[in-house]
Amino acid sequence: MSIHDMQYLADKIEGLKQDGLYKTFKVVEGPNEAECVIDGKKVINLSSNNYLGFANHPRLKKAAIAAIEKYGVGAGAVRPINGNLSLHEELEKLLAEFKEEEAVIVYQSGFNCNAGTIQAAVDEGDLIISDELNHASIIDGCRLSKAKKTVFKHSDMKDLERVLKERRAEFNKVLIITDGVFSMDGDIANLPGIVALAEKYDCMTYVDDAHASGVLGRSGRGTVDHFHLHGKVDFIIGTLSKAMGVIGGYVAGKQVTIDWLKNRSRPLLFSTGNTPADTAAIIEAVKMLMESDAYTNKLWDNARLFKEKLGKLGFNTGHSETPITPIIIGDEAKTGAFSEALFENGVFTSPIVFPTVPKGTGRVRCMITAAHTEEQIERAVDIIAKVGRELGIIE
Ligand code: PMP
Repeated sequence: MSIHDMQYLADKIEGLKQDGLYKTFKVVEGPNEAECVIDGKKVINLSSNNYLGFANHPRLKKAAIAAIEKYGVGAGAVRPINGNLSLHEELEKLLAEFKEEEAVIVYQSGFNCNAGTIQAAVDEGDLIISDELNHASIIDGCRLSKAKKTVFKHSDMKDLERVLKERRAEFNKVLIITDGVFSMDGDIANLPGIVALAEKYDCMTYVDDAHASGVLGRSGRGTVDHFHLHGKVDFIIGTLSKAMGVIGGYVAGKQVTIDWLKNRSRPLLFSTGNTPADTAAIIEAVKMLMESDAYTNKLWDNARLFKEKLGKLGFNTGHSETPITPIIIGDEAKTGAFSEALFENGVFTSPIVFPTVPKGTGRVRCMITAAHTEEQIERAVDIIAKVGRELGIIE
């Protein structure tokens, strides 16, 4: 046997299979829309982050095509060397205006924002305090930093204050990090509570608005806007890959913060800038949100309709406050079976189980978008009800 057989990986895969954790990727044929063809089957799509239906929107497509004609398909280099396109500058200026913050820097992904910003923000001798349910990219971003790290219990301000009381004095700077909207439960961070404690204990604040950008606040300006906390959060992260429909991420904050990231944030220094097509499409998306709040209003109308209908049936939908709607099943195997049966009956949802969520809290996560029609939502709920009864999840 040779090391090149990669037997050690085959063994690990076997382990994943035995634990029921082995993943295969379903194939979406055609655009990611409210109803689409997945693995050859036409289904109502309740699984995408395409909150506003922008991923296949004619205005974004037109902008992307025009950018390809004008700029070509690639930025050509990392931005500090030669890949800083006028389109990047235009997008950043527009996003800063939209977010009502001094400045913005755009990254190649939301993941890269967290990987590149946290390590640039804090040093040895500093402390990061992170909500225990923060996203994997925040966890990885923290790992890349030389600062000490600790967690506080999910959205628990008493526990956050306990940590601050016990440890604040030991460190130079302290950075408190939270998701704006928690992606597995759909609850909103207690940002006012975090900001108040940060002010009391002289700490910096960092919010990852991946699931709040385009969703919460006026026309989707995010959690800072939702809670009227402009000027009080130091690092505001957003994705351009979910509600904005394309790909990428951004950090909004003070000009000095953005200037520092331009000098020290490694994904910006060592990875090529966003493509012209993506950048132009996002500019169009931001313009659409600045023109009208109809997109976010439709998203919330649809989410309310779905939650109301589902709630009446007796499913446990946890404590979601956003369009992310979990149906909590509990048992992991039953969660998988529920999701599979939904797919067979024409509804695609993602099964989410341990280790993404705690053991015994398996769920299918339903993502409602502005692009769903009332008829599609009603049909989806009917199918969920039928399958739920068949599997004994509801009566
Ligand atoms: N942060 C959070 C909270 C997320 O949910 C995600 C996406 N799953 C990301 C960051 C990463 O964003 P992107 O997909 O743009 O890399």
